[in-house]
Amino acid sequence: MRVLVADFGGLRVKWGIFERGKLVRRGIIDSVSVRDPEKFLGFLRGLEFDRFVLGFAGLVKDGVVLHAPNHPRWEGYDLKRIFGEYDVVVENDANLFTLGEAIYGAGRGKKFVLGITLGTGVGGGLVIDGQIIRGAGGLGMEIGHITIGIDGPPCNCGSYGCAEAYLGGIYFVERAARLFVRHGKSAPKSMRQLEEFARMGVSLARNLWREYGKYLGVLVASLINVFDPEIIVLGGGIAAAYDLFKDDMYEEIKRRRVAYVLDTPVVPSELGTDAALWGGYHLVAPRPQ
Ligand SMILES: [Zn+2]
Repeated sequence: MRVLVADFGGLRVKWGIFERGKLVRRGIIDSVSVRDPEKFLGFLRGLEFDRFVLGFAGLVKDGVVLHAPNHPRWEGYDLKRIFGEYDVVVENDANLFTLGEAIYGAGRGKKFVLGITLGTGVGGGLVIDGQIIRGAGGLGMEIGHITIGIDGPPCNCGSYGCAEAYLGGIYFVERAARLFVRHGKSAPKSMRQLEEFARMGVSLARNLWREYGKYLGVLVASLINVFDPEIIVLGGGIAAAYDLFKDDMYEEIKRRRVAYVLDTPVVPSELGTDAALWGGYHLVAPRPQ
C-alpha cells in the first residue's frame, strides 16, 4: 500500500509517498500553484498511491473547510467529496506534526506530547497515548488564537492580541519591517532574512528574536499550566531560529508557570519538515496484528 501525505502549509505544500514504513518519494510545491482544490486534484492525478492523507492549515470539520485565512479559495469546499476518489483523510496540519513527533520524533516514548507549529501562522496539537486530542467538536487546540495581549494587534481570525498575531511569521516580519524602517534601515522580507541578520550580529534583529522568545514563553507557560505535558515540541520554519529565542523563552516560562510544575522540556522538532508527513502516515499505516 502506498500512502501519499500532503502537508498544506501557508506558503508550500510538502508531500511524501510512504511504502512499507519508508518515505520513498517526496517533493515541495508552491501553495499558489494549487490554490484551489480543483488545481490540487490535477496535481494528485500525476502521482501514484492508494491512500491519501491531507494535512491542512485551517479549520476543517468532517472534511469541510470552515475557515482558512491563508487559503481563502478553499473555504466552503467539501474535501471528502472533491478528493472522494482517493479515500482521503483530512486532518489539521499541526495535529499531524504533533502526532509525527510523538510517535517517531522528539516525543518518542512519551505519553503526553504537545506540539506548536511556528510558521506563517501558529498551530498546536496534543497527542496522548498516541491519539490526537481534538476537543468535543473536533476543532480544539487552536492555541495560536489564545489571547496573550488583551489590547494587542488584530489577528486574521477576527480577534485581537492572539498569540499568532505576535508569533506568526507574517506578523513578526511586518513588525520587524516597521522597526527597521523607523531606524532608517531597509526592511527584512522574510523570517529567514531576519534570522540571517541576527546571526550576522545586527542588534535590531537580535532584539526582535529575544522579544519573540518572550512572547512565546508567555504562551508556553500558560500551556504548561493548563496541560502539564511531558514535552513540548516546536516545529515550523521559525523553529530553525530556536537558539536565538530559547533563553528568553525559558526565562519567561519560569516567571509564569505555577511553581509545582517541573521543568518541562520545550525542544525543536527532530523530524523537521517531515514530521507532519510521518504523522499522516501513522494515521492510516497498517498496524502489526
Ligand atoms: Zn486569532
